[in-house]
Amino acid sequence: MRILLKNALLLCDVRSEPKVSDLLVEDGKIAGIGNFTEATAEEIHDMSEKLVMPGFVNAHTHAAMTLMRGFAEDMKLQDWLFKRIFPIEERLTPEDVYYGTMMAQLEMARRGIVAYVDMYFHCDAVAQAALDFGMKALITRGLTDYNGDNGRLKQNIEYFDRWHGRKGLISVGFGPHAPYSCSIRYIDEIARIALELKAPITMHLFESPAEDYSLHEILKTKLSECKVIFAHCVHVSEKDIELLSRENFFVVHNPTSNLKLGSGIAPVQKMIEKGVQVCLGTDGAASNNTLDVWHEMRLATLLQKVSDPRNISIQQALIMAIEQGAKAVGLTSGMIEVGADADLIVVDLKKPWYVPRDRIKNHIVHSGNSLDVFATMIKGRWVYYDGEYPTIDAKYVFKKCEEAIGRLTGTTN
Ligand SMILES: [Zn+2]
Repeated sequence: MRILLKNALLLCDVRSEPKVSDLLVEDGKIAGIGNFTEATAEEIHDMSEKLVMPGFVNAHTHAAMTLMRGFAEDMKLQDWLFKRIFPIEERLTPEDVYYGTMMAQLEMARRGIVAYVDMYFHCDAVAQAALDFGMKALITRGLTDYNGDNGRLKQNIEYFDRWHGRKGLISVGFGPHAPYSCSIRYIDEIARIALELKAPITMHLFESPAEDYSLHEILKTKLSECKVIFAHCVHVSEKDIELLSRENFFVVHNPTSNLKLGSGIAPVQKMIEKGVQVCLGTDGAASNNTLDVWHEMRLATLLQKVSDPRNISIQQALIMAIEQGAKAVGLTSGMIEVGADADLIVVDLKKPWYVPRDRIKNHIVHSGNSLDVFATMIKGRWVYYDGEYPTIDAKYVFKKCEEAIGRLTGTTN
């Protein structure tokens, strides 16, 4: 199947400038950039006045938490988690997680996200939802041992065996929840298994000011050798920043969630200056409440500019939102180039806020928003196109989520 996008304003990667070009997609991959006649393809789309660019990556979320969107507001992190979220999560069925994840994917595709990193449970349901929808996902099982491991790590290994590499859409990693919920011995055990399987790890780190542990001690374990995606890193010392600036480590900045839960503002500018690879995440919809990396990108730059307007340039913002996210998730290139998977978004430029047209990257960061996304393609398949979701019955997903939410929150039986 060959798909031709004609006359697009094409931004091949976030470091270059856009140019008008056609784009040919064949069997899920970018097959050509240049001029092509309409006879070249079976499916043709006129992309005049549209920008085609690599999609965003959500490097930290708990997708199924869309079921708890708006459920716990104006609360401190620990109360939010222990009084509101955990009691609901205990009652989630695999089917709930499937539809909650699907709802998250509908939103992410609508907002121009092509891949995400997930930490949750009932991961067979998460993986099935990603496969059915056609979205790229690095899936991890949340792991804790403060009340005993209860077979979680064994489950995570089984998820790896069952799902890792499926259809080029799914990869499975390991999800030690946080240093306050995992013992050092447990983190080391997880890291050893991850290294053996060449699987990445994702873990919350220094999210709130109350978190009291030593990264230096944690990195005496095998974790230091793993590819690790650390979420938050709000309360990090100079020494921690130094420890995080390694090629195998990524930091995911989640500005909305950090602000909303009163966690603080991560020192992103300092981390970037010290060579830390920073990408962006939304966290779950229960603490954000949107899954919108485009929005996080703008917020991330504004938060650092409060002390110096030279902080976080247009280029750096786009690098965090797309290029570093792609590197962290490992399933997408973050570029439009021949031979790469066709993971891209189409942005409708017929808006007052995209004029003048010669500074499109500036407009993307500082004046556009995710609702300008006209279409999202993942591995050559449209998963969102002009108000429609071609791979899934969205109305049915809405209905199933409403039913689940009613049962979980006690508004229906
Ligand atoms: Zn999180």
